Amino acid sequence: MIKKLLIANRGEIAVRILRACKDLGIETVAVHSTADADAMHVRLADESVCIGPAQPRESYLNVPAIISAACITGADAIHPGFGFLSENSTFSYMVKEHGLTFVGPDAEHIAMMGDKIMAKKTVARLGLPTVPGSDGAVTNIDKALKLADEIGYPVLIKAAGGGGGRGMKVARSKADFVEAYETARREAGISFGNDRVYLEKYLENPRHIEFQVIADKYGNAVHLGERDCSLQRRNQKVWEEALSTVLTPEFRDTFGRKIAKAISELGYLGVGTLEFLYENGQLYFIEMNTRIQVEHPITEMITGIDIVREQILVASGEKLSFTQDDVKFRGHAIECRINAENAETFIPSAGTVTSYHCPGGPGVRVDSALYEGCKVPPYYDSLIAKLIIHANDREQCLARLRRALREYVIGGVDTLIPLHLKLADNPDIIAGNFNIHFLEKLTEQ
Ligand code: ADP
Repeated sequence: MIKKLLIANRGEIAVRILRACKDLGIETVAVHSTADADAMHVRLADESVCIGPAQPRESYLNVPAIISAACITGADAIHPGFGFLSENSTFSYMVKEHGLTFVGPDAEHIAMMGDKIMAKKTVARLGLPTVPGSDGAVTNIDKALKLADEIGYPVLIKAAGGGGGRGMKVARSKADFVEAYETARREAGISFGNDRVYLEKYLENPRHIEFQVIADKYGNAVHLGERDCSLQRRNQKVWEEALSTVLTPEFRDTFGRKIAKAISELGYLGVGTLEFLYENGQLYFIEMNTRIQVEHPITEMITGIDIVREQILVASGEKLSFTQDDVKFRGHAIECRINAENAETFIPSAGTVTSYHCPGGPGVRVDSALYEGCKVPPYYDSLIAKLIIHANDREQCLARLRRALREYVIGGVDTLIPLHLKLADNPDIIAGNFNIHFLEKLTEQ
């Protein structure tokens, strides 16, 4: 069993992991940049180590500094959280080479799923449906044009190494294909150091639906149902729900078990999310995230399972404490991402939080690292809090959400709270009538 865990992250996820450790009696080590010396995760940890200057490259992405911090403090494991080094297979490998436990899957599985082409091939081989498209990378423009004709326009050109909603270009017709293809390759080379691209049918009105899985090292794998993350801006999720309103219990059960079986066959360890697009009653795999996700709390609320705790336990070599038949879904949950951004222009807003009042009451959970007087530095992701609401059904969940959003006070920085208030009152959202383009259309008006 892990005795002392170093958390290689910051912000609300570092606090979330710290809380799971405290519940498990595991000692904690926080790491931080000079910009985060007074941050909440540093204050709550048993020990902390400054690993470098504010720039992520020099601190939260600084592998030698992080591994040294673990060795100096006597930590026996590292949790990468999400973002930063969480999907870096070399990091996972190096952590193990230093005799430490990496709270995540094997380097081999991180690398496999980090390459979207390989991920699609693997998942297809395991019998799951994928978005129709090219069978691997396309390297030659003539072949690419021919393939695009076969797939049928519109076609999406995606970077094999893409992530964070970047590295995608749509070609609506043959006339835009060459330019879109060349731009996608060039940008992929610059942004991801890998210019391999592949083609996918561009689905016009899908929902984004993803399944949460967890597996131990004894071949036990379980799915924890799905989340609907269709409300996105620039392919980045803003609002998530569990369960989705479109899958029937029978479909969920059959499809979910199929996914769990595939994960078990893969020999996968830890938590993961398989992302799909849903159109005309079908799910099509797009990618897998091999880490804890921002939106995991809504699944925790409807299943009663502490996913981060279970993640740490399976990484320690424990057996999963529940089976598929033990997993029961109760009620509905919604998460609103509270980013420090202007709710109309989406321009990031850094500064000092001058006043803070957190909502509460039945069904309200807030995961954040905020406190009055804390700083929101300009160097990192703008997510500063997650408002997570649970109720017996979706209608009650929306009512509680409106109540909590109106109570929430974050002074000194701009936040997305006004946008979420608008969404919670929107008739289409209330009716559950939206797809991945909904938010972008709404905010363009
Ligand atoms: P990333 O790793 O950058 O998050 P994903 O492959 O998960 O990239 O895609 C992110 C989002 O882009 C999806 O949630 C969806 O909104 C959109 N998207 C991806 N593939 C397609 C597709 N084939 N057709 C339409 N939209 C897509």
